[in-house]
Amino acid sequence: MTMPKKFKEHLFPLLKDITGHFDTPFHIYDEAGIYETGRMLIDKFSGIKGFREYFAVKALPNPRILEIMKQMGFGFDCSSIPELILSRQAGGSGEEIMFTSNNTSHAEFLSASADGGCILNLDDITLIPKVPQMPELVCFRYNPGSTRTGNTIIGNPVEAKYGVSHEQILSAYKTARDFGAKRFGLHTMLASNELDYKYMLQTTRMLLELAEWISDKLNINFEFINIGGGLGIPYKPEDRPLDLHAMAKEITDLFNRFEKRNSYAPKFFLESGRYMTGPHGVLVVKAINKKDIYRKYIGVDACMSSLMRPGIYGAYHHISVLGKKPDKKGVVVVVVDVVGSLCENNDKFAVQRRLPKIEQGDILIIHDTGAHGHAMGFNYNGRLRPKELLLKTDGSVEMIRREETAADYFATLNFESKVIIPKTEDPASRFTNM
Ligand SMILES: *Cc1c(COP(=O)(O)O)cnc(C)c1O
Repeated sequence: MTMPKKFKEHLFPLLKDITGHFDTPFHIYDEAGIYETGRMLIDKFSGIKGFREYFAVKALPNPRILEIMKQMGFGFDCSSIPELILSRQAGGSGEEIMFTSNNTSHAEFLSASADGGCILNLDDITLIPKVPQMPELVCFRYNPGSTRTGNTIIGNPVEAKYGVSHEQILSAYKTARDFGAKRFGLHTMLASNELDYKYMLQTTRMLLELAEWISDKLNINFEFINIGGGLGIPYKPEDRPLDLHAMAKEITDLFNRFEKRNSYAPKFFLESGRYMTGPHGVLVVKAINKKDIYRKYIGVDACMSSLMRPGIYGAYHHISVLGKKPDKKGVVVVVVDVVGSLCENNDKFAVQRRLPKIEQGDILIIHDTGAHGHAMGFNYNGRLRPKELLLKTDGSVEMIRREETAADYFATLNFESKVIIPKTEDPASRFTNM
C-alpha cells in the first residue's frame, strides 16, 4: 500500500508548481484523505452507541489539522500543557478532551482542570491525592502486566512505565471514589503501529471483562472504555492494511454481548494518531548532492530534524522520485542511501534502497509522514524544521506552518541576564548531605 492512490494522483501532477512556489523541503497533508479516514472510522463503529475518536494530538499538532478533527466531531487526546492549549484553541472543551499524561506534574493537573476541564486519565494510584480538585469523571490507564505481550514500539507491558497494575486497579477506582469521583472510564494503550486487528480485539475484550469485574466489586458503572491508539498503517509496499471492517464488526459484537449481560454498555473511545493522519502526509525534498564512495549516497535538502522515525526506530518510509517510475522500461534502478546533512550516521531516510537513478534537482517524495513526522523533529546540530502545507479539498494549497529560521533557533538565548551567587549550606550539615 503506502501512500493512498488518490493522494498520489492528486498531488504528483501539482508538485512542480507547489515546489516552485514554496520551495523544498516541506510536509504536505491531504485534507480529503484525512476526512475520508475519519468518516470511515465513524461509519465502521456506528453500531456502538457513543463511539468517539479522540485524535492523538502528538501525532500532528497543527491547528488546521485539529480543526478538521473538530469538524468531524472528534475529541482530542493530549498529554502536555501545550497540547491542551492547542486542543482548546481548536474548540475542544470539557469531555471532548482526554488528558492522558504520565509522571504528571502539579502544573499539568492545574492546566487540565482549568478552562472547563477535561477527562482526566490517571496513570497511577499515587496521583489520586495529588489531583488538585477531583473531577466527577475519572479514568485510569490500565497496565495488564504479564498477561499481555506488547509490540516493538511500546514494549512489553511489564517493562512499560505506563498505567496502573492489575493488583492496584481495584483500589484505584475505590480511592478515586473516596476522593469524590462519581463517573468512571477505563483506558489502556498497549500496542503501536499494530496491523493485526485481532490484537485490538483482545484489548477490547480485556477492558470489557475488567470493567465487568470492577463494576461487580465496587458497584459502579463504566461510562466508556478507551483502547488507546496504535492502529497500524502499511509503511511497506508488501504490508497488508489493518482490516478495520473486521475489527469494527467484532468489537461491535463484543459490545452487544456486554449489553446483554449487563443491560447497559459503556461508550467506545479510540485515540488514533497514526491511523488518522499517517498515510495522508508526505515529506517532499530535493536531491542536492550525489556521492559515490563505498556506497552510493543521495543527499537531500532535509534531514532527520524533519523526520526522526528512520533514524530512531530504523523505520521504513517508502520513497518515490517524481517523474521516474521504478517499474517503467528504460528506468535505471540504483541501490543508494538517501541521507540528510546532520552529523550522525543514522541521519538516513533510506538505507540500501533500490530507487530510480536520481539526478541533482530531482524531487523525492517520502511517504507516510503525516503522523509522528514533523512533530518529532528537533534542533540538534542547528538543524531547522521545515514548513507544513495542506492540500485542500477545494484544490488550493495552504501553508499551515512556516519553516523555522535561525532567529527561532536563537530565540531561547534572548532573555534578561540572571546571575546568582549560590550560598553554601550550614557547614555542619555538609557531610551528612554528601
Ligand atoms: C501516542 C499515543 C497515541 C497515538 O498513538 P498512534 O500509534 O499514533 O495511534 C494514543 N494514546 C496515547 C496515550 C499515546 O501516547
